[in-house]
Amino acid sequence: MSKTSPSYATLEREGRLTARAEAAQASYRSCDLCPHACGVDRTRGALGVCGAPAHPVIASVGAHPGEERVLLGERGSGTIFFSHCALRCVFCQNRDIAHDGLGRRIDSQTLAGHMLALQDANCPNVNLITPTHFVPDILAALAQARRDGLCIPLVYNTSSYECEKTLERLEDVVDIYLADFKFSDDTAAKRYTHSGAADYPTVAKAALKRMYAQVGPLRLDDEGVARRGLMIRHLIMPNDVSGTSRFLEWLKDELSTDVHVNIMAQYQPPWDRRHYPDIDRGITVTEFVDAVEYALELGFSRLDEVTLMQYARVKERM
Ligand code: SF4
Repeated sequence: MSKTSPSYATLEREGRLTARAEAAQASYRSCDLCPHACGVDRTRGALGVCGAPAHPVIASVGAHPGEERVLLGERGSGTIFFSHCALRCVFCQNRDIAHDGLGRRIDSQTLAGHMLALQDANCPNVNLITPTHFVPDILAALAQARRDGLCIPLVYNTSSYECEKTLERLEDVVDIYLADFKFSDDTAAKRYTHSGAADYPTVAKAALKRMYAQVGPLRLDDEGVARRGLMIRHLIMPNDVSGTSRFLEWLKDELSTDVHVNIMAQYQPPWDRRHYPDIDRGITVTEFVDAVEYALELGFSRLDEVTLMQYARVKERM
């Protein structure tokens, strides 16, 4: 795939991106940006489950070398890390940012400037991490940044706890969805998220289908860098709490075995370990190997490079 213009360029040229950004502002007044649908007026200081105000709060901006290889280019993925989170897993590794909202408040003009600065730093994409609760400002910032010359793909890095309305607003805006799938089971989703999102499996599966319908399988440019498509991350948890085999079966039956999947082994126990003895350990080699081998057996042809490298390394030692 050549380095074609990102989707949002067409939308902005037709005047639809600015219009969409303006319309989305209404969601801050009766918030329905995620499936919690709190209905609070964030413009008057009311807070919903995520605890986020009506303007972006960001924890960091910069080239990040730790994302999937296809997102890195030569300089690293251009990450913008948003504070607060609508899901808040008990094992989150960014507790101060996601749970406590650590970060600085900015406006959409400043956000647009950050997007352009990442492009100027030769990052191959703008990678929005945990962006859902700030989508109206992100759309406004993107429209401004596009007018000022932004032309790299937009990555939407999400827990997949997304509602239909927000995903509709992102159609022809996002080029790459980098989407987690965390739990296959309602009871686990309720127990291991501080937001008590028992509907996570149903919501996330519907969201993955919508994302895939929008952007399709992952496509790379001539230099092997991602340009468009859906990438899925699945973190294996101890004692099959994340329901890995059930998720892979669903993915095969309902989406595709062509989808890019990163099966991740870096789970770390929650900080509040006493309350979660069942997940108070890292995963075993066997749990990782079994998950990767099951994915291969089901026919997944595009497992992430790191997944396959870790698998090869572990097998060598077995
Ligand atoms: S984005 Fe926050 S306030 Fe809005 S519905 Fe979701 S949790 Fe509630």
